[in-house]
Amino acid sequence: MAYRATGRRQSEPISEELKILLVEDSRTYALALSRRLEAELRLPIVVCQSLNELHEVVTEDRASFTLAVVDLNLPDAPRGEAIDFTVQRRIPTIVHTASFDIETRNRIMERDVIDYVPKDSAFTLETVVTTARRALSNRQTRILVVDDTAATRKLLSHMLKVQQYQVVEVESGEEALSLIQDNPDIRLVVSDYYMPDMDGYELTRRIRRQFASDRLRVIGVSSSSDRMVSVGFLKAGANDFISMPFIPEELQCRIASNVETLEQIEQLQSLASRDSLTGLFNRRHFFANADRLVEEARAKGRASAMAILDIDDFKRLNDSHGHDFGDQALAKVARYLAQSVEGNGHLLARIGGEEFAILFPGLNAKEALRLSDHIRLDISHETLLVDDQQVTLTVSIGVAEIDGQGSLDQHLVAADRALYVAKREGRNCVRVAA
Ligand code: GH3
Ligand code: MG
Ligand code: MG
Repeated sequence: MAYRATGRRQSEPISEELKILLVEDSRTYALALSRRLEAELRLPIVVCQSLNELHEVVTEDRASFTLAVVDLNLPDAPRGEAIDFTVQRRIPTIVHTASFDIETRNRIMERDVIDYVPKDSAFTLETVVTTARRALSNRQTRILVVDDTAATRKLLSHMLKVQQYQVVEVESGEEALSLIQDNPDIRLVVSDYYMPDMDGYELTRRIRRQFASDRLRVIGVSSSSDRMVSVGFLKAGANDFISMPFIPEELQCRIASNVETLEQIEQLQSLASRDSLTGLFNRRHFFANADRLVEEARAKGRASAMAILDIDDFKRLNDSHGHDFGDQALAKVARYLAQSVEGNGHLLARIGGEEFAILFPGLNAKEALRLSDHIRLDISHETLLVDDQQVTLTVSIGVAEIDGQGSLDQHLVAADRALYVAKREGRNCVRVAA
């Protein structure tokens, strides 16, 4: 009987957008796997124990499944009929199988499946989860396929779509360059070598003049038996090379490894630019980006301004409630600031202990003062719930206009002086630098 791994009754409607279908006849294994999948992917799982049940569930549940994990052999489907069914229904499918040899592999790969996972080790559950996670995240990744030969382009594009990537195709280097220019969400380019307008090396070199490999990955492909083709691609700046005819697993692993590298770089960049307590940008990120934003505003003929915001009497809060409590209060103030400031083109950062900076690109001192005073007033009216206790805090703010002269550091000093004046004149107020 089909059941929901969450324990909800089958009659309950399934409203979630993303859903995973698990087809597995062993109840123990299905339970272990569905628990793991649900815990790690946080998606509802629907379990079927036979082909018969699979038919029922898929026909009855009109909302489609995002992913299916299907056992190759079921008592009523000994020859992979369950896989045929999910693939025909266009449900992206991961196969898991107890028996595994090259013949089984060939049988599985004849179908358009994402991947197969043999049930042969202690890591099987983990591998299924990793494979499913990758397939789900591939849905957000856009790949550009460049090949003048329609048949190869279609094949490559199809194989990548099976892996759940978003795929765009073009047939020439020039088209590729202009598409990359207009679509910053393209993260990976797979390029053929022989093409009439420009070959794969030239395309790679021209991509690299504008985009480093932490931003865009390039993978060369060719059916040439000349091993120097791969060397040419790599020396032109490509990250990898895949020979044709493609072996699906090789294609899948090489592409996935490049996408993972991009994700790891993104994680590291985020760690390096964010403050761990509040999640806000840190001082380093603020200074690395402020000049550019000010310059962009200046190019449009607009001034900019910056504010330094410091929590009043924060030491007293720490002394009376403890440092951990202080930390939580800081995080609350940060979240509050982020809600009121971010998304408006302003740049917010935690630049010191209980000190924050806001850059207002395109706003003059008067406009920045007005906004800052709103923020100050809102914070003073807000009751923060920290550790089940209600706390009210106030902040003092110093504002400085950023004119044509002087470095950002000098404007920071000016804003800091204005902040000092705000503190001296009683706190919970905003002052503007002379
Ligand atoms: P003022 O109104 O003049 O700004 O007074 P203040 O007490 O806020 O300022 P002061 O500079 O005297 O003290 C700042 C305090 O902020 C001291 C320090 O313990 C606390 N602080 C700085 N960073 C952190 C942090 O990350 N966590 C916690 N809990 N406290 C912090
Ligand atoms: Mg060609
Ligand atoms: Mg303070």
